[in-house]
Amino acid sequence: MNTRAYVGLGSNLDAPAEQLRNALQALDQLDDTRLAAASALYTSESLLPGQPRYTNAVAALDTSLDPLALLDALQAIEHGQGRVRKERWGPRTLDLDILLYGDQVIDVPRLQVPHYHMHARPFVLYPLAELVPEDFQLADGRALAQLLSACPYVGLERL
Ligand code: ATP
Ligand code: CA
Ligand code: CA
Repeated sequence: MNTRAYVGLGSNLDAPAEQLRNALQALDQLDDTRLAAASALYTSESLLPGQPRYTNAVAALDTSLDPLALLDALQAIEHGQGRVRKERWGPRTLDLDILLYGDQVIDVPRLQVPHYHMHARPFVLYPLAELVPEDFQLADGRALAQLLSACPYVGLERL
């Protein structure tokens, strides 16, 4: 349990809030992993028109799974909660993204960490901010406070 990782959760199908609560439980039950904290749930409009509203949250995990093993485990949880992969960015019962994995910067075909688009997503940055100190920096040196000030709290509803 020696690495702190942050995972972004999202759902916009089949009772999203329940999907996220089930996913948090599944994360806590992973081998060699403990759910350390979870943010509130937030809802927002889909970035793509015509999709149901999203519910999102961020979880802090302490894990000794290596990053790709953690990704495998997250994809197994997505699958277990009925995620069907069709078009990219299509509606989904559950999406689990590795936002941060300790102080590592990872860039391999299956996995880029910090998550490539987290800096522009209020539904990632604001829940993450609930879980970390004010002076928190991403592994690549970007200050969370700076990212927050460039990403207005618009369209988010905290449940
Ligand atoms: P986005 O990546 O823009 O949030 P998405 O979450 O809908 O889109 P998916 O279809 O869930 O995209 O994932 C596509 C692929 O992204 C996965 O198969 C995985 O290998 C890869 N991937 C790369 N970096 C990460 C990461 N940090 N966390 C999760 N998956 C990642
Ligand atoms: Ca995603
Ligand atoms: Ca994903």
